[in-house]
Amino acid sequence: MSANSPRFRAVLDQFVGYTPGKAPTAAAGPSFKLSSNESPYDPLPSVRAVIASAADHVNRYPDNTAAELIDAIAARLGVPAAHVAVGCGSVGIAQQVLEAVGEPGAEVIYAWRSFEAYPYLTDLANATSVPVPLREYRHDLPAMAAAITGKTRLIFLCTPNNPTGTALERDELTAFLDQVPPDCLVVLDEAYVQYVRDPRVPDGLTLYASRPNVAVLRTFSKAYGLAGLRVGYLVGHEPVTAAVRKTMLPFTVNSIAQAAAVASLAAEAELLERVELVVKERDRLRHELLGQGWTVPPTEANFVWLPLADRSTEFTQHCDAVGVSVRPYLPDGVRATVADREANDAFLAAAASYPHRV
Ligand SMILES: *Cc1c(COP(=O)(O)O)cnc(C)c1O
Repeated sequence: MSANSPRFRAVLDQFVGYTPGKAPTAAAGPSFKLSSNESPYDPLPSVRAVIASAADHVNRYPDNTAAELIDAIAARLGVPAAHVAVGCGSVGIAQQVLEAVGEPGAEVIYAWRSFEAYPYLTDLANATSVPVPLREYRHDLPAMAAAITGKTRLIFLCTPNNPTGTALERDELTAFLDQVPPDCLVVLDEAYVQYVRDPRVPDGLTLYASRPNVAVLRTFSKAYGLAGLRVGYLVGHEPVTAAVRKTMLPFTVNSIAQAAAVASLAAEAELLERVELVVKERDRLRHELLGQGWTVPPTEANFVWLPLADRSTEFTQHCDAVGVSVRPYLPDGVRATVADREANDAFLAAAASYPHRV
């Protein structure tokens, strides 16, 4: 830093910040963005109409308590409204959680590799990251339990895990939760819960109910197709929701997003039909990739993980050259989002023509 630059926090010096998935670079033919786990489908007409009419009122501030949306989420999930808090995407809620627990010396445990927002938000909150390596693409829960100290304030469990796709099973998860001290918050990040089909994988809501230190994070960005509007929520007991309401930026969920999320809950049956199509495509995609000779861990999410290690950049460029944008996570592998059939076929063709599959 030069002496005539303004001074910033030291944590920013090595800070990379969040890198979103890239759009495909202009290829000659059609191109497909499989780098951000988005829904491949356009917004539903009913949701679009609500978005358009919400635009009529944007001269007014949104409802800071998001009362209608919170009531709709609570009714849908069968939980008290006091147990629901909303945020600017579930990344926004994760930041609110970190603002509520983070201070110098506070430790935050998460699996690694996992969602790249965890280290970034932990740094920003002045807390200390304690990453625990995955084992066979899965959270190593015994190692995570062993990493708990008197300073641990927060544990993220990402299930299904982004980017590897593996999900935690009920027995291992309850055994883990039983070992966490009651003053340490566990956040189950269930951004992809609607894509889970394995009956051994529990719904986090069945676990939080009897555990005051467990909260569940969910989002409208993926299965509900509202990534561009930024709405997520947390379900937890009242001390937890009260804390994240305090750390919320005022008016963080805008009025169009609130209205669209309410409309999406009303149209949930239609949205879940689309999720079912993606789940079928996911199973087809993984099956075809295994048939081509790739290693692909089982996935309960809307993406597949290719543990390509030092070939990750090369494979990403190979896909990009044919108009398919996937997401490299160096030095571990590449994540590809499951989309509609045409996009998945384009990805499968790219994979088939890559000479060094692993
Ligand atoms: C996509 C994703 C989110 C959600 O992000 P939003 O901020 O709600 O768009 C949260 N957690 C994980 C693990 C994700 O992959």
